[in-house]
Parts: sequence; C-alpha cells; structure tokens
Amino acid sequence: MRWNFVKEPQNGPNFRLDGPLGLRLDFEEEKKRVIAAAIEKVQFEMNEARRISEDQLKNAHLMEMATAVERHKTEISEVKKKQWCYNCEAEAIYHCCWNTSYCSVDCQQVHWHKEHKRTCRRKR
Ligand SMILES: [Zn+2]
Ligand SMILES: [Zn+2]
Repeated sequence: MRWNFVKEPQNGPNFRLDGPLGLRLDFEEEKKRVIAAAIEKVQFEMNEARRISEDQLKNAHLMEMATAVERHKTEISEVKKKQWCYNCEAEAIYHCCWNTSYCSVDCQQVHWHKEHKRTCRRKR
C-alpha cells in the first residue's frame, strides 16, 4: 500500500479555532476507528491464513508419514521374501536346504566345511 502525504494549507479554514474543528475531530476519530477495524480485519485474516496453512502442513505431513510407513512395510516384506547368504549375509542365489542359502559356491564351501556338513537337511 502507498500512502500519499498531502500537505494541507497551514492557514486554511480548517485551522481556525472557531471553524468546523468539531467536525474535523469527528473525522479524526472516525479515521482512527476505520484504521483500527482494518488492522483487526487484516490480523484476523492473517491468523486465519496461518491456521489454514498449518492445518495443510499437518495434513501433508501425516500423508507423507503414512506413505513412508506403507513404503517401509513394502520394503520389509520384500526383504523378508529374499534369501540371504548364511555365510556372509549377501543376497543369496543358491539354496541348499531349510533356512540355508548362499550368495556363491565359495560361501557354500566355507560354511559346509565349517559346520553345515553336520547339520545339512538336504535329502540325499
Ligand atoms: Zn556369501
Ligand atoms: Zn544344507
């Protein structure tokens, strides 16, 4: 908003004490009242806008959280479906027997000699 300052004539009729000073004071009061009302309105609108945007932020945040939780669940179930190397915990591609898979023949060999030859459940 731009304020235009208009210089009033110093010796104009409005400055005479016996002039329409009462009217002028009424006008000043009215102006103050209008300005106060306008400020109040603007403050109310600003609070309202802030409240709405806070609600929107909160909702957006909740949506984001829900999406993240969903994505996390999906990732977990994907991970659970996978088999992991018994020896080095890399993703396994060779399955030996129950709960025992390996990422490579090397890992299978290492684990076999270390302990798996005694516990292997593979049907022979
Ligand atoms: Zn491995
Ligand atoms: Zn086995």
